[in-house]
Amino acid sequence: MNKIMSKIVFANNPLDRMSSIRGDEEWQKTSMSSSDARYIIFDSGKPLIQVSKEPGSKSEIYLSKFESVTKHIKACQIIFLGEMKNIKYYAIDITKERSHFDIEIFIGCKFIDLRSIAQSLSPEDTGILAQAKSMVEWNAVNIFCSRCENSKLRTVDAGSKKVCDKCKTELFPRVDPVVIMLPIFNEKCLLGRQKIFPPRMYSALAGFLEPGETIEDAVVREVKEEVGLNVNSVEYKFTQPWPFSSQLMIGCFSNVDDDKTNLDEDEIEHAVWLSREDVNRIFVGKSPDRIWIPPAMAVAHQLIVEWLHNK
Ligand SMILES: [Zn+2]
Repeated sequence: MNKIMSKIVFANNPLDRMSSIRGDEEWQKTSMSSSDARYIIFDSGKPLIQVSKEPGSKSEIYLSKFESVTKHIKACQIIFLGEMKNIKYYAIDITKERSHFDIEIFIGCKFIDLRSIAQSLSPEDTGILAQAKSMVEWNAVNIFCSRCENSKLRTVDAGSKKVCDKCKTELFPRVDPVVIMLPIFNEKCLLGRQKIFPPRMYSALAGFLEPGETIEDAVVREVKEEVGLNVNSVEYKFTQPWPFSSQLMIGCFSNVDDDKTNLDEDEIEHAVWLSREDVNRIFVGKSPDRIWIPPAMAVAHQLIVEWLHNK
């Protein structure tokens, strides 16, 4: 299967999800215990990582064989993720089994928060973990049917679907879309800062898409609400799966009618218009106001880079 490589962290999942066969219980039974099966182990939302000791070399997802997780298979949620080069990838959530789980056998491995390790992993590993982490969390929180009290959902399709046997409701993993946009006017872009940001950090604007909205509608609404500017065109740039817990960041440029901002200070306490020269100074650490922006793994960072090179 062809994949379009992206510079965006979490966006390069190389697995073939095999959606036509993953629900076949007989196939799964054989696949799960075969020598081709590999398990990504999660504890409390954190993946088990083989930590690199060599400076400059990448840490990796620890891929456990069936034998190392066999005794936990029955008690833990198993999720089929997909296949690559005949290897079948599964996620196993050992959170509830943690006291019986012996991490000592996995030498040099640690459960690490994905946000803090992502930049030390390969693009493919972050892509696989974006899928695995969101799926593990979706499975962990969707236990009962929301229509029938006390009716436990049944997991099917190897963790990709849940069914209520009482009312026949089918549940699928959800993804929450978020628009992230860079307002642009007259060769300048606008960055804003929320009160909760660390001191002097500025970023693109962002907000959740609401039901019944297009991406364009959401960009227009959010820019108007947060900084009082009228958007006249929206240019989609790229998306990023963001597995905290399961969002899709939709990065856009938004051209606005003028530069007269009117901030909603509950959302944005300060905003600045920056030229490409100003942005360049930020990248080399020479911003006169010591402004800095989110790290490269954030889609906001990539939007700013895109604008810088897009003349
Ligand atoms: Zn139900």
